[in-house]
Amino acid sequence: MTSTTTQSHPVPAPSTRERIERTRAAIAENGWSGLVVLDGADIRWLTGLSSSNAAVVVTPDRIVVATDFRYVAEAAARGLEVAKIEQSMWQDLGRVAGELAGGGALAYPPSGLTHRAFLQFTDSLPDNVTLRAVDGVVQRLRVIKDADEIARIRRAADLLEGAYDLVANLGLAGRTEADVAWSIERHLREAGATALSFESIVAGGGNGAFPHHTPGSDTIATDTLVTVDIGCVVDGYCSDCTRTFAVGSPSSDLLAIYDLTLRAQQASLAAVQPGAAGRDIDAIARDMIAEGGHGEHFGHGLGHGVGMQVHEAPRLARTSDDVLAPGMIVTVEPGIYVPGLGGVRIEDLVVVTADGHDVLTNYTKDLVHA
Ligand code: ZN
Ligand code: ZN
Repeated sequence: MTSTTTQSHPVPAPSTRERIERTRAAIAENGWSGLVVLDGADIRWLTGLSSSNAAVVVTPDRIVVATDFRYVAEAAARGLEVAKIEQSMWQDLGRVAGELAGGGALAYPPSGLTHRAFLQFTDSLPDNVTLRAVDGVVQRLRVIKDADEIARIRRAADLLEGAYDLVANLGLAGRTEADVAWSIERHLREAGATALSFESIVAGGGNGAFPHHTPGSDTIATDTLVTVDIGCVVDGYCSDCTRTFAVGSPSSDLLAIYDLTLRAQQASLAAVQPGAAGRDIDAIARDMIAEGGHGEHFGHGLGHGVGMQVHEAPRLARTSDDVLAPGMIVTVEPGIYVPGLGGVRIEDLVVVTADGHDVLTNYTKDLVHA
């Protein structure tokens, strides 16, 4: 990367200008001289640029994208000041970030670079710059979605309803989990999704006890439950939803954990509103499941934020310090996983509104026989 830039101080598009200013406010609040941004979703949110190899340096009066030849023209077209990487990303970045910061405390995300990259980065950093290791600066700004982002996530969520209709119509008994997963993927792509948010989870029978089971060649038997956790990407934004289906006549034990999971899901979902603490909402579902005798069978957090990434801040979990605010989008997804018996998970995606929440995943939560 050269330290001379291709243009002098171009003006970014209006949609990203406010985001850059919010980032600068965080920089000023912390007294930093600059911030290095490495996460691809953070960079996309901040600049509009999608790149597999870019870093952004934000200072109180400059924003520079360091990237290689493949992305230089696109970054410049977005009105960004560009530093082209000529040799080593990390050495060049250290030099340019140091120059832009001009001394003082430069914040960087320690989880965004390998130890080797860190050594190269610091090697070329001027002596008058000290580093501050801080993760999640931009991600914390991304938790509040604007109307356009909410609309994209809503479209991604809408597509999932059609996929569940397809599951119910095609049926599950006698099919392999992998076949069910493929039919869902094909449907979502044909309906307009550009990608899946994650590999679909189809977990039948005993596999339902594994929360993140990979669909395989197992044939789905009858008289059981099947967990189907899916999500897709529309215009760069993810959705995420889980429904558990019945095949034949599941045992009373399975029906009981379905009923308990559903009640815990509905009660915790009802608590999603501005000002509610992530750990308190988690506790509502966790306490109900524990009282029902399945405390040890619910080992993951209740929910997570969804946006450009399918797992992002905030978290609804025992260890969360997050407090909900309007514009946040979170999942509410309790589950009960009983080894040898099977499992249930029910997950909705919801946006926090000024006075409560709006559910984006509207497929029925009554137990559907597929
Ligand atoms: Zn999910
Ligand atoms: Zn989820």
